[in-house]
Amino acid sequence: MRSQKVIKNPPEFCIDCGACTKHCEFLTKYDINLLDFSKRKDLAFNCFLCDKCYAVCPKDISGNEIALKHREQIKKPFRYLNFLKSPYLYANNSAKKSRELVFFGCNFPGFLPRTTRKIIEIFEPLGIDFSIDCCGKPLFEGQGQFDRTKAHLNELFAAKGVETLILACPNCYHFLKDKIDIKIKTLYEKFEEFGLNHEIKEEAHMFYPCPERIHKPIFETFKKYVPNYKTSFTDVNCCGLGGLAKSNEPQIAADYPQKLKDKNLPNLYTYCATCCGNFAKNGVQNIKHIATVMTDVNESPNTNYFKNVLSLKFYKRNRK
Ligand code: SF4
Ligand code: SF4
Repeated sequence: MRSQKVIKNPPEFCIDCGACTKHCEFLTKYDINLLDFSKRKDLAFNCFLCDKCYAVCPKDISGNEIALKHREQIKKPFRYLNFLKSPYLYANNSAKKSRELVFFGCNFPGFLPRTTRKIIEIFEPLGIDFSIDCCGKPLFEGQGQFDRTKAHLNELFAAKGVETLILACPNCYHFLKDKIDIKIKTLYEKFEEFGLNHEIKEEAHMFYPCPERIHKPIFETFKKYVPNYKTSFTDVNCCGLGGLAKSNEPQIAADYPQKLKDKNLPNLYTYCATCCGNFAKNGVQNIKHIATVMTDVNESPNTNYFKNVLSLKFYKRNRK
């Protein structure tokens, strides 16, 4: 029977079948499998945490889990990341009470500024406030640390009386879902309540973000609106920005968008702003974020990242 992939086994379960190496550029480069990787702490930050290896491993062993365990022991300082994300430098929060809160994360406003504004404008008259802030995933992946961010987020949500988070980012969604005690829903579930979702009729070549590799709970919330979707990128493991690995593996990080480009397919879609933005930065022109289509903004990913996050940091809420 095919594994349902709900648990992750220790690397000692390895039967040396070679599937993980065959499907991963990083493991191939160092000519190792996941069991070997578990003994190579020096490669902790060379793994993109994409978990393609887990998807193909007959013994359900996860490279993501191995890399995070290595990283916990390394204690790399990540001074810039700490400076940027703890607390998030471009955050925009308010003291307004809001039982539901649209949580954009950090990259959505950075790459999709007009869509961000439109979503704020849709929800603001309904008494639904927004938060631009970091969910804590990058620091967790770097240092295994979440306590400070968790305390900050819990304080923010408690002060605002938040009961439900509406999440715009798949990384925030999958990272926070088991870590906070607040109900979560996807942007598309909320759009559904207001009849905003609409059908994308064309053949849509879908790039799934890494956290949705095995189970796709976010995709499921809008799948019926993409009846002609195609899973065309099973051999592109990551957008290239996963797992803080880009600086150690620049060539592999550059090869991922190139692979997408080489396929030369029309109508590329994803639902991760980070993937969208990174592909656009690397010359993939025809990629659209599902949220920008559903809101009729139809914005191409905007690569003026810092200009965008800065302008949204100072976005003024309607004070009524
Ligand atoms: S998580 Fe991704 S990059 Fe890391 S070993 Fe697995 S397939 Fe390779
Ligand atoms: S796919 Fe799994 S069982 Fe096969 S070599 Fe890799 S870790 Fe071992």
